[in-house]
Formats: sequence, C-alpha cells, structure tokens
Amino acid sequence: MALGFRLRGSTVVFAITLATPTAAAINLVSVQDEIKLGQEAQREVRRQVPVVGGSVGPYVGGIGRQLAAHAAGPRYPYSFSVANYREINAFSLPGGPVWVHRGAIQAAQNESQLAGIVAHEIAHIARRHAAQQISKGIVANGLLNLLGAVLGSGHGARAAEVGASVLANGYLLKFSRDDEREADAVGVQIMRRAGWDARGMLEFMEILRAKEGRDPGVAIFLSTHPAPADRVARLRSIVGGGGRRDTDAFRRIRAELARMPPAPAMPR
Ligand SMILES: [Zn+2]
Repeated sequence: MALGFRLRGSTVVFAITLATPTAAAINLVSVQDEIKLGQEAQREVRRQVPVVGGSVGPYVGGIGRQLAAHAAGPRYPYSFSVANYREINAFSLPGGPVWVHRGAIQAAQNESQLAGIVAHEIAHIARRHAAQQISKGIVANGLLNLLGAVLGSGHGARAAEVGASVLANGYLLKFSRDDEREADAVGVQIMRRAGWDARGMLEFMEILRAKEGRDPGVAIFLSTHPAPADRVARLRSIVGGGGRRDTDAFRRIRAELARMPPAPAMPR
C-alpha cells in the first residue's frame, strides 16, 4: 500500500525510483515540512478524487482515529478519506492523510481486514517513509537547492511553494521493500494495541494473492507492493490471534456500499 498516487493528466517530474534502499534512513525533511507537503498533496487529491458519501467516510475515519491513537512517532494530523474507485488500493500522503479505495473496503470480508489496510498506511506515516523517500530523491536527483528551499528561512511559505511546484507536475512515490515490511510489522503492533485481531492484515493480503491475475482491480495494488509472497510469509510469523474481528458496523457499511451505484474505475 505504497504511496502510488499519480495526478491525472500530468507528467511525472519527481519520480523517486531508487532500486536499492540505503542502509541508514535519512530524514532531511522536517516533520513540519512533511505535514505541509502532505497538505498540499491532499488539496490536489481532494480536487481530483471522488469521495464516497453516506456513513462510509465517518466509519472509516472512526477506525482510523482509534488506530492512529496507538501509533508512535510525531503527533501527525491524521485524516481518513474513502475514494470512490473500484480498484483495490490504499495510500498515504506525507504527514497525515490516509486514503482507502472503496474497492478495498468491498474486498475485505471483516473489519479486522479493513483495519489492517488502514493500520499499514498509518505505519507508513508514523515511520516517516515519505519523508525518507523524498530525502533520498532530493539527494539522488541532485536537487539540493530544492532541499535548501524547503529547509531555508521563511520555512512554511517556501516549503509550501516547493510542495506546490512538485505536486503541480505530479509525482510517483514508491516505498522500498524494507518500508513495506516495516509498515506491516508496525501496522500489526498498532492493530493489537487498538484491540483488533492482527490476523486481518494477513487475511487481506491472502485475498489479494488469490485475486492476482484474475481481477484487474488488484493490479494497481500489486504494482506498488513488492513481493507479496514474501510479505505474507513475514506476516504469518508475527501475527497472533486475539482481538476484534468483525462488527455490525462493518456489515452495515458493506450493505450501504452494495446499495450504491458501482464504483467507477480510477482514471488512467
Ligand atoms: Zn505500503
């Protein structure tokens, strides 16, 4: 569930595609700048992405807030939105915003599986994976002047300016395998602390693997998620039983979604 959102109709000028993760995590972007960049991105995503109405957003927001309360790290302004797209996907923006596609909710069979998706995205934010990827991209692309602009004086305004110029041209940010593994492991901890059965995360990944190659809606998810077999094996070794698996609220939300017109496909 990497940040793999691409702004519609725009070209990628800030593609971060480092094949090998560096040994040590680098964080050249401050928490404040990270939040500002995320807010810029969120504004753009909100303009372009249709949101699911009814009780779905508040329900996912409720799960997200319970999970985020148990995340370590900076106190980010987490927010949770549901995109009315049929593809199975979820993504996070730097410093707080989490998006879940309607297709992911409809593919989940119980609430713990949905909680697993959300917890994984919260973990990416809490562990500052986007800030690290942006830092690596800045260094790899020789954009230290851009970094200077982010970190220089007049902090907020400059950061917003840089964020806007980056985002106006679109971006494609993929997390490394290590980031994905860490988001799984940290997400499992968050789920347990918040009282959900962490096996839900593993179950959802198994649903995806079963659909692989048969359901085109899974392709986008798998394109941003390296080595699902490897992740399943690792998850199997860390999730234990216990905790909340399902609720009446989840079943009501599923019924509400089933009554809505089908979710449209994500524009390419
Ligand atoms: Zn992920």
